[in-house]
Formats: sequence, structure tokens, C-alpha cells
Amino acid sequence: MFVTHLQSALDGTRFEAGRVHTTHQGRPLWVRYDLAAIRRSLRREDLAGRPPTLWRYRELLPLPVDAEPVTLGEGMTPLLACDRLAARFGLKRLWIKDESQMPTGSFKARGMAMAVSMARHFGLRRLAVPSAGNAGGALAAYAARAGLEAFLFMPADTPRINIQEALLAGARVFLVDGVITDCGRIVREGVDQVGWFDLSTLREPYRLEGKKTMGLELAEQFAWSLPDVILYPTGGGTGLVGMVKAFEELRELGWLPGDKLPRMVVCQSDGCCPLVLAFQRGERFAEPFPNPKTEASGLRVPSAVGDFMILDAVRRTNGLAVAGREDTIRRWMREVAAAEGILICPETAICFDALVQLREAGHLTGHETVVVFNTGAAQKYVELLPEVSLPVLRPGAVDYEALLKVAA
Ligand SMILES: *Cc1c(COP(=O)(O)O)cnc(C)c1O
Repeated sequence: MFVTHLQSALDGTRFEAGRVHTTHQGRPLWVRYDLAAIRRSLRREDLAGRPPTLWRYRELLPLPVDAEPVTLGEGMTPLLACDRLAARFGLKRLWIKDESQMPTGSFKARGMAMAVSMARHFGLRRLAVPSAGNAGGALAAYAARAGLEAFLFMPADTPRINIQEALLAGARVFLVDGVITDCGRIVREGVDQVGWFDLSTLREPYRLEGKKTMGLELAEQFAWSLPDVILYPTGGGTGLVGMVKAFEELRELGWLPGDKLPRMVVCQSDGCCPLVLAFQRGERFAEPFPNPKTEASGLRVPSAVGDFMILDAVRRTNGLAVAGREDTIRRWMREVAAAEGILICPETAICFDALVQLREAGHLTGHETVVVFNTGAAQKYVELLPEVSLPVLRPGAVDYEALLKVAA
């Protein structure tokens, strides 16, 4: 195992590896590795022969090599070139990294595979999480796979499929009259009262390490170079922070050419954009966003415990933070699916509106390589999909010429 220690993201305080950790002064911890030792024992070419899951990066992950991972086969999602969409945006190269093909249909599986593997390794048996959607479904599945108990607290307006998938996987699900921060408070009070383990975003160190694998995969899929710009739908921000951590570790391993990192673009909805506001004001921390309203449930995060880590990652990579317009979500879901056959979640729809704005404001010349993350599957958001009102054909009485004239 190559983990040397954990380290406070706030003030650098060191913590011993191999013990259960949560936060330091209410703020997240980094997992640190002996990268020089990893460089000596692993060459990037060695990865090619390993199974196509995120566990191929085992040396760069926190689970000791003799511990069994809890796995549903997660990782190595496709990186899809989208030439038709690229042309529409006046871009030479546009790719979608399609996380909708992960177990339980979202990238949340990466973080939960790692956090549940570590929790089981440490002998924790009862896990709890607040979730506005996909984190709950993913925890339920991985807890079931590991034989652990899961307690989920979700806002009452959480997408129905997220509640159903969690119930199917045997989680204890509770609906809360409030937003995700209210759910988080219930989980934290329960830690003192009944001693379950809090798996909230960035309140334990290992979900971040799981999400880091998005960056590792991207580097490997781009043959150890990196794209110029990455658009990421940002709620709690672990995906974005994890990717930058991945790139920096790879750079230190000497596996990337040059020092340049992709410009990371935080995409939020104009109905809940605390990070965009903090970025524009040049602040280190973000103010809680009042009265958050967005159909992109994964972005309904009014205040993120890792706000300063996200803002720092964006600034260090010369990136940006952009608010996509809430009222374009359904249109982008339809347009991207019709153009490329990729069924994007509403969170990713926000990225496409951000892409329009970046292009119009001159932040993209058109020559960059751009990657948009599709963090989840459209099928999980039935509430957002239009009512179906199609004519019903009678077999034997079909007017074929008329069928050809029906609009797509
Ligand atoms: C949770 C979630 C997000 C936000 O992810 P973070 O990495 O926590 O910012 C984006 N999209 C979907 C589909 C999600 O479930």
C-alpha cells in the first residue's frame, strides 16, 4: 500500500493512515501517496493488460492491496467523440465521457465503490448519507453488495427513481422536508446518537479518491495527454477536485508531458450557483445560496463543504465557473440525445448551455479539445421527460407515406 498519510485540505495538518478518518475542523482531508515509490513499482504501460475497471489504478487508490474491493464492475466508461455536436458549437473536437454507463447509472458509483470498500475494510457496519439523488442509489447498491446497512436521507422532491432504486437494494430510506443540507444535519446528529458512519460528500476521505479515477481514465484514454478544457456539472465538487488531484499525481509520476493542466470549468444552474458567485467575487469560500431551485437534482447543493478546494482547483488550472440557464435543460437533453444518441442527465444539460456561453464570450477559440462529463443517465429523471401523447397505429391500416412525414 502506497498511502503515506492524510492531510487537512484547510491547513495541512497530518493524520496517520490506516485509521478511520472524517474531517478536520469540519473540512475535508486529502489522501497522500508515496508517488516516488509508485513510480518505481509501476509503469503506465503495465496498466494496459489489467481489467477495464477503476481498480486497474490500484497503486493510486487507498484500499490496501490485500483487501478485497466491493465492486459492481465500475469504471472505464467510454470517451465518445461527438463530431455532430462539435460542429454545432463551432468546435474542432468535442468529447463526452459517458458516466451514465456506470452501475446505478451515475458516476456516484466511483466514490461509493471506494468509500464502501474502505468502510468494510475498517469494520464499519452501518452507513448513512444525505442525498439529493444518485449518491443514495449508489450507496444502497454498494452497501448491499458489501452486506452492510445503509440509511439514506433525501429531500422529499428527490427523483422517484433514486428512491425506488435505493428501496430495491434494501436501504432504509427517509424523506426530509428540506434540502440536502438539512438531510446532512440529520445524518451528523445521528452519528452522535446512534453511531452510524457519515458518508456525506467530502466528510470522509475516500469518495474523492474514487472520483479521482475519472481523471486517471481520461489521461489513459487520451494516450497520456490531456484535453484543453473540461466542463463538469458541479454540486459538491468531488468529481472536479478529484480529477485535478489525479492530474497532479500523474504529473508527479512523470506520466504526462509538460505541466499544463486542462482548464476546469465549474458548471452550475442559475437556480443554484454558489460557486459561480464566489468565483466571480474572487472569494476563497462560497456563501450559502439562498432558496436553491433546480431540476438538476445533483446540482441542488446550496453550500459545499469543499467549496475552497473547488475554487482553488478552478483557479490553479486557469479555469472558469459558469451558470447555465435552468430553462434550457429539457432542450439540451433532447438535442444531445437526438444528435449523438447519448442520453444526458439534466446536470450535464447545464454544461451544454455553459458551453454556448463560453463560446459567445470568446473563452473558447474552437481549436481546443473539449470534454463534457455526462455524469448520469437521463432515464433516472422520468419527472423531467415529457408526457407521451403518440397516435396508436392499427395493424393492417397503416398509411406508410404518412409515417414518413411525421416530424422527429
Ligand atoms: C452528484 C451529481 C453531480 C454533482 O457532482 P459533484 O462531483 O458532487 O459536484 C452531477 N451530476 C450528477 C448526475 C450527480 O448525481
